[in-house]
Order: sequence, then C-alpha cells, then structure tokens
Amino acid sequence: MCKRVLGKSTTKQSNESHSSDPIVLTRDQHPVSRKLISPSALKVLYRLNKGGYDAYLVGGGVRDILLGIQPKDFDIVTNATPEEIKALFRNCRLIGRRFRLAHIVFGREIIEVATFRGHHDTSDKKTTQKTSKQSEHGMLLRDNIYGSIEEDAERRDFTINALYYSAKDYTVHDFANGVADIEARQIRLIGDPETRYREDPVRMLRAIRFATKLDMNMSKETEAPIKELGPLLENIPPARMFEEFLKLFMSGKAEENFNLLREYGLFKYFFPLVDQQLNQQTNIYIQPFIQQALRNTDKRINNDQRVTPAFLFATMLWYPLQEQIQQLQNGAHLTPQDAFFGALSEIMSEQQRSIAIPKRFQAVMKDILILQDKLTKREGKRAFKAFEHPKFRAGYDFLLLRSEIESTYSESGESSTLVELAKWWTDFQNNSHETKEQMIKTVSSNRIGARRSPRKRRKPRKKPTDIS
Ligand code: ATP
Ligand code: MG
Repeated sequence: MCKRVLGKSTTKQSNESHSSDPIVLTRDQHPVSRKLISPSALKVLYRLNKGGYDAYLVGGGVRDILLGIQPKDFDIVTNATPEEIKALFRNCRLIGRRFRLAHIVFGREIIEVATFRGHHDTSDKKTTQKTSKQSEHGMLLRDNIYGSIEEDAERRDFTINALYYSAKDYTVHDFANGVADIEARQIRLIGDPETRYREDPVRMLRAIRFATKLDMNMSKETEAPIKELGPLLENIPPARMFEEFLKLFMSGKAEENFNLLREYGLFKYFFPLVDQQLNQQTNIYIQPFIQQALRNTDKRINNDQRVTPAFLFATMLWYPLQEQIQQLQNGAHLTPQDAFFGALSEIMSEQQRSIAIPKRFQAVMKDILILQDKLTKREGKRAFKAFEHPKFRAGYDFLLLRSEIESTYSESGESSTLVELAKWWTDFQNNSHETKEQMIKTVSSNRIGARRSPRKRRKPRKKPTDIS
C-alpha cells in the first residue's frame, strides 16, 4: 500500500475506536484514484453531487483499494433519502425492509446507494418506533433512521469499513482510524463490541470473513466476546444465514473460514448435524472429507472455474445422511430407497432451520446424493443412463472425493470397492462407445449375484375379442 497513507495514519492513536472528527486525506495522501473505481459508481456519485447532495464511496470499495485489492463491488452513501435517490435515477429500484436501500442498475452491475444512517437513542420515541425496532436480545430488526455522515460512520461495523471517498474533492474521510487499522492489519469493531454484536450478531461472521479475506487479525476486544455471544446467531433468519454461508464458503477462502468458524464455535449455527459429528469424532472421514471439498472449491474459485453451493451442501450432509440411514434401518425393514429418502427428508428439515437452502440448490444436492447409488449400478442400460444424467459430472466428482478420502483414511481395506468404482467411471468416460459396452458386460458378469433371474415371459395378451 502507498506510503503516504502510512504517514498520515499515525497522526491519531490507533486504539481510539471512534471519533466524530475524521482524518481527511487529500488526493496526494491516498491511492484511491478514479481509474480504480467502476465508471457506474462514479456516474452515481457525480449525479448525486449535481443534484445537490453529498455522496461518498464507502466500505469495501475504499478499503480494498487502500489494500491494493480490486473491490468486489462499490457501495455509495448519501444524504439523499431513498425517494430522493429514486427521483434522480430512472434505473433505480428501492429494496429492503431492515435497511431501505436504492439499487441503481447498470446492465449486470448494481450500485447500492444507502442514506446516511442515524442513531437509535433519540428522545422522540414515536418516530423511532416507526423507523427502528429492536428485539429482546438487543438485535436491530429495522434500521431506517437517517442521520449525518458522522452518525453513519459510527453505525458501520469495522473501522476499516468507515472510510469515505468523495468524488467532489477526491478526499478520503477516515472516521474511526480505519487507515491505521489497515496499516496494522486489524479488524476492529467500532464502539463497544458486545453491544455491536448484540445489535447484529452477523457481525461476528463478518469479523471472521474479513480476517481471512484481507489476511488480517481481529483485535483482542473484537475477538473476545465471540465465543460467548455465538448463540445469538440462532436468532438470525435462515435466509440471511444462507447469504452469509455463500460469502464465507464461495469466495475462495472457504477452508480458512471453516477452520475459524469451528475454532470460535460458530460453525454449528450453519450445520448443526455436521458440527455434532465433527465433535463426536466417531467418523474418521468427515473432517478430511469436508476440508478437501472446501480446498477444491477454493482452488476452483481462484482459477475462475464454476462452482455450485449444491456440491458443498452434499458434502456437508453426506455423513450425517449415512448415519441417519443406518438409524432408520435399525430394526426396521425398510428398502434401501425408503431409508435413503426418509433419512434425507429428516436431515433436510433439520438443516433448513439453520440455513434456508433455496430449492434449486436442494434439487442439485439431491441429484448428487442419489447419483452415489446410481453410479454403483452399471448393468444393462444403467451406466449409460447415469452418464447422461445432467448432474453426472458433479456426482462423479463427489464419488472421486469419497474414494480419495476413504482410501487415504480407511483403517481397513473397506474402501477398495469405492476406489475401483471411481476408477471404473474414470475409464468409462475416456473410452469409446464399444469399449464402454464391453466394460458394462464385464461388470455384469463379475458381479456376484448380479445376474437377474431370467425374466418370466409374459403371456401374450389375449387379443380383444372382436365385438363387432
Ligand atoms: P465486501 O463487499 O467485500 O464483502 P464490504 O465491506 O463492502 O465487503 P458489504 O456487505 O458490501 O461489505 O457492506 C458495505 C458496507 O456496509 C460495509 O463496509 C460496512 O460499512 C457496512 N455494513 C455492512 N454490513 C453491516 C453490518 N452488519 N453492520 C454494520 N455495518 C455494516
Ligand atoms: Mg461491498
């Protein structure tokens, strides 16, 4: 990062958590240049300024540029109300209930514009109740009180996220010593950590996410309350937990985030059944299995390859599913199919209480899990049918992962069938049609008990009697 920022940031004590007087860095004191900002975001900033409003780039957009990273998106904040923003932009839609926001749409890019947020402890109780709401745990359920830029800065989560860039005079306003914390590579909550976590427990997840994403450490005060306040995450709606899951597990740092979430006892609020199995340590495969899947996902994301969260859901739930199948089969005479679907539905209804997995991902996850059985049955036309399945590739990758982990960690030789099966499918894909047919024949004749009893010949149907 630019040395000029370093020089300036040392003018204030870095352990001050907030202040209403910002440090103002002029253009020659910071590296934020218009070339590094999306043209759409610049357009929005200019249009708001021209309309007579204050407008700043804020949050990740400024923070990441200071860190020399390309920002994922550009968020803007202004003193214009959502309605006033809407009046300025034709391509604007207002969204959100908890936080009312404007989305300005430029083709595939969306610029999020928020109005400065204010404090909640105003004496005017009547208006406060209408616009803000707090739960019995201190959680903010609605947060639509508008305020000044100073108030807005205090309502942001971390010091490094309370940096504001103005396109009017190209200054960066640092309200909470965020630049100093960037220098010190510290994730530090603004204000009293416990209060801030109670207001919004998701900030605990954000602290972990920023620590891994930016390769920083949490400050002592920011880290300290997490283990105790973790249970507050139970109050977060499953749909929001799903969003956080995506940010934590589908952004190239899944393995590190998993490790930290486990360390701070927060993983169980995403996958309670998995967490239980991990803690019991009775299944030797589950930990390396999940870890390897996360590592592969990170690798794919960092190589710009496609990934689907459905694969991770299948990975997470595979061993809890196996356990549930066994439990259902214990003593009960269920067909393998009934046991599988019964167990799956029980696991899913439990899982959905933590994360609301959208139906489209559930469907793909189910396909991957079902394919694990289909891939073992290769006689007749079955192998070709499985091969043509739209999710064959994901199912096959999943099988490979299972065989890789089970063969590495198995204490007995029980994994050899799985390894053979995975190898068979690898060969099958690479062979010509004739060889594929030959492979299927070999499987059929090799499989003990695989030969079906000869089909009974159907009696030829009686010809309908001619009634005419
Ligand atoms: P990235 O987009 O790279 O994940 P970001 O910091 O831009 O990081 P966003 O979720 O896009 O994160 O939020 C934009 C800004 O809004 C943040 O930088 C922060 O200032 C503020 N913010 C977001 N979520 C919260 C929260 N739960 N509590 C307080 N402030 C928040
Ligand atoms: Mg952002």
